[in-house]
Amino acid sequence: MAGAGEGEGHHFVCTSVPLKGGSDDGSILEAVRYSNSFWAPYTTLKYYYFSDGQSAEEEKAVSNAFDEWNKVGMNITFRRTRSLATAHLRVGFRQDGRSWSTVGTDAIGQRRTMNFGWSLLSRSESRNNTRLSATALHEIGHAICFQHEHQNPNAGITWDRAAVIAEMARSQSPPWTEADCDVNIFALVRRLDNGAVLEGSNFDKDSIMNYPFESNFIIAPPAVKATGLLRNVVLSAQDKAWAKKWYPTTNLSRGLEGVDKNAAPAPSSPVVLALWELQKISGSAVESTQVSFFTFKPSESRKYVLQLVGNVKARVSVLDNIDGEHEPLAHSNGDTDTQLKLVLGANRDYLITVRTGECASEEYGIVIY
Ligand SMILES: [Zn+2]
Repeated sequence: MAGAGEGEGHHFVCTSVPLKGGSDDGSILEAVRYSNSFWAPYTTLKYYYFSDGQSAEEEKAVSNAFDEWNKVGMNITFRRTRSLATAHLRVGFRQDGRSWSTVGTDAIGQRRTMNFGWSLLSRSESRNNTRLSATALHEIGHAICFQHEHQNPNAGITWDRAAVIAEMARSQSPPWTEADCDVNIFALVRRLDNGAVLEGSNFDKDSIMNYPFESNFIIAPPAVKATGLLRNVVLSAQDKAWAKKWYPTTNLSRGLEGVDKNAAPAPSSPVVLALWELQKISGSAVESTQVSFFTFKPSESRKYVLQLVGNVKARVSVLDNIDGEHEPLAHSNGDTDTQLKLVLGANRDYLITVRTGECASEEYGIVIY
């Protein structure tokens, strides 16, 4: 059984919706695209429940999971909304045997972004029937850009591939294909900061992002084979640490100090928003996520261009401040875009975040005009 006991263990696997452009050959999902799916820190993500016949108790099991992530201390806030039009995460309860979630901002433009395909009220979903669904904790992890921990290259897991494929075809309804297994089990996912490969993330056997697998599906390493992968029902210390690292809190005035207006290349009469030094990424380990934050209050309502300068790949996000909540307005594609164009309103307080991807120069900046 791929799963832990109680006669329903085969249910505890979700299909994360593959990242757009992710490799389909069972190898490494593409690095830059991964970092491109992070939400901007400070975002308030509103979640909405479709009416699929679920009980109030099941909604509670999911809401409790959102609240549990809210307690982690990362700089993302979840809040329920009854308005489909304003929701960022649109959650269904279709009992079709498939639980899944989009990954990070891949949710944008999707009608349904998450589904719970089985009951969340079973004894295996939470410790002591606390109505804190492990499946919901896991899917919400995907929604903020977590990948499966058993696909961490540092796990070094050698699977009994044939046994896993046979088991997933047998136990899942509808049956999993070999391609499903490749995407969700065998493919290695590089744990990334800044779009570069992070070599130092140790495999976390306690992560909520593991699938449970008994040891007879695992050939190596011995430490994993010895116990198998257990059914985890709470967030691990490392889960929380990653969430805080990816969604850090920073003094909003940071980055506006020391601005050298002469140093920036000049698109037509730019206002230099910031220019800052970047710690050079040498291609080896990158220890921390680099996100920079800026506030911007336009003096007039019009279309603005936010232009990255310097040899850098970075994801620029713009958030509106609506009654103290930050609403994401736009994200650039950090892989290809060097500018973001959008209409901003006079005297509104916008928050601009820049999450660094690849960078070949030591200095880069952003101008707005
Ligand atoms: Zn999953």
